[in-house]
Amino acid sequence: MVNCSEKSGGQRPPDFSEVLFSVSQMDFGGPIRCPHCNTPMPRWANPELTNWSGEFQYVCFSDACPYFIRGWAWMEDNFNVHSSYRCRLDPTTGETGPLPVWSREALKDRIVPSEEDFDA
Ligand SMILES: [Zn+2]
Repeated sequence: MVNCSEKSGGQRPPDFSEVLFSVSQMDFGGPIRCPHCNTPMPRWANPELTNWSGEFQYVCFSDACPYFIRGWAWMEDNFNVHSSYRCRLDPTTGETGPLPVWSREALKDRIVPSEEDFDA
């Protein structure tokens, strides 16, 4: 004898907390925050002639960022050069990596104004 009601419990509705989690992971509407210091990361225009995809990335330009502060000592110890790197987030892949800088002011001229500034 076949029990037709056996599969009726197989289709469970998605767990609401899982849905909320996936939405929060994809939400680029709010400020992107540095994973190291939680400072909102401005958009930073990609230089030409790089293999980075997309037109911009998010970069933490906080001088208090522990990633940036550690970078000075790390570069000095490993390469004997006075430079550091800032935390870079590629929005096309969601991956973070180092963006080499040679001073506190380096590369800040490539920061893209936030979209709110264009809303007149
Ligand atoms: Zn940071």
